[in-house]
Amino acid sequence: MSRYRCPVCDYVYDETAGEPREGFPPGTAFADVPDDWNCPDCGVRDKVDFEEITDGG
Ligand SMILES: [Zn+2]
Repeated sequence: MSRYRCPVCDYVYDETAGEPREGFPPGTAFADVPDDWNCPDCGVRDKVDFEEITDGG
């Protein structure tokens, strides 16, 4: 499970938690999020703009 951050508002999509308010239950992989989805907080950035957060290395 990975996390992905919006470069504009620092909203984080966490695959472990999903995003129930957007219709994605916990465990939904970012790859399974529709390509036309955009940031639920700022609405500015699209899925492709999100940056994967890597732990460590
Ligand atoms: Zn955002």
